[in-house]
Amino acid sequence: MKVGMISLGCPKNQVDAEVMVGLLMDAGHEITASETDAEVIVVNTCAFIKDATEESIQAILETADLKEHGHLKHLIVTGCMSQRYKAGMLKELPEVDAYLGTGEFDRVAEVLAGLARGADERKAHRVPVPKLVYSHDTPRVRFTPKHWGYLKVSDGCDNRCSYCVIPSVRGRLRSRPSASVVTEARTMARQGVKEVCIIAQDITAYGTDLKATESLTGLLTQLEGIKGLEWVRLLYTHPAHYTDELLDFIAGSGKVVKYLDIPVQHIDDEILSSMGRKVTSKQIRALIKRIRAKIPGVALRTSIIVGFPGETREKFMALLRFVKSAEFDHLGVFTYSEEEGTPAAGFAGKVSEELAAERRDQLMKAQAKISLAKNKVRVGQVYKVLVDGPSKESEMLIAGRAYFQAPDIDGVIYITEGKVKPGMMVDVEITEAHTYDLVGVVV
Ligand code: SF4
Repeated sequence: MKVGMISLGCPKNQVDAEVMVGLLMDAGHEITASETDAEVIVVNTCAFIKDATEESIQAILETADLKEHGHLKHLIVTGCMSQRYKAGMLKELPEVDAYLGTGEFDRVAEVLAGLARGADERKAHRVPVPKLVYSHDTPRVRFTPKHWGYLKVSDGCDNRCSYCVIPSVRGRLRSRPSASVVTEARTMARQGVKEVCIIAQDITAYGTDLKATESLTGLLTQLEGIKGLEWVRLLYTHPAHYTDELLDFIAGSGKVVKYLDIPVQHIDDEILSSMGRKVTSKQIRALIKRIRAKIPGVALRTSIIVGFPGETREKFMALLRFVKSAEFDHLGVFTYSEEEGTPAAGFAGKVSEELAAERRDQLMKAQAKISLAKNKVRVGQVYKVLVDGPSKESEMLIAGRAYFQAPDIDGVIYITEGKVKPGMMVDVEITEAHTYDLVGVVV
């Protein structure tokens, strides 16, 4: 059949969708990008926060419409919303023919075969607690450009932050054996991948559920020897799980880029404690200092939640001062979203959405100044740049990224002079700085 895939949410969910497309093609189905042509559509949902759940419901309803006014025969819903709300969705969304939880997306071809036979897949099964981790021999079709890709090293999370639903929709931490991850990375390098982004809920917890020999540093050591792989980028680390061994390895590595994504979420000790972040403000500040001392020129990305219950004006002002003094290279600020079933949903001291939004904007305004100042310092510098190709802004503009820019979330470098192709690594001299992006010429 002609199958369409709509994947929402984070890169970890995207990798599940890439595996589902691999399995469906393996089963002989044709993948189509045109929703109107599709006979089957899989909506791979996100339910991390309310807004994401609403976006998922919208996507399901729009797709269901194609059943009435198009060629669509079957609608399958997978991902975190299916895991979190299956029971309710059964009643609310009769248009959906089958639900698959986050631990059984590997059954997508089997369920489609059942639907084609006329089987009732709606009620057929209870969504199990997720235990699945895909492996290097699971078919997977990457949605990212040829020259970079995500390497998902584990699923689930044992950290249990008080505001987060992920442990309940993704299950306990389950790391993939490093041999499987390394085999997959080798295959990706043979396919022309120059940059892999290591992802999980918390990559710094990688291997803690496996035998003692498995660890993130151990995995990175094995990736270091893979020919063709130029950059290994670390996303989704946890400030409480850093070791000197890991930092020393990154400092001395020829492949691990000097870039770290460390969501700190807040800086006030009472808030950090009620968030269940297992780290104090003193430890966060000391970690940032240690990282910058051990890895000169390192670029730091972080995420912060504002409006968490109990966040007084004083606590927010302390957070604003921290952001101004820490000078992160990249910052994402989210307003707290009260999620049913999480401990934080019952906490006192709620902050209004308006005030939370105001605080988010104040932090982003401060960050914009920091980002521009840091970019100005880069003018005249020459950096190794991985060319991504025509930019999202305009086909006319060719964009690439240096070590301090992650794909899809950070700014880019617009290349205005020099013949380049996607996947090339070229030296670029920076000629102009903007708040989030840079301009440069090939040298
Ligand atoms: S580390 Fe915390 S916020 Fe991140 S996925 Fe785990 S529980 Fe959620």
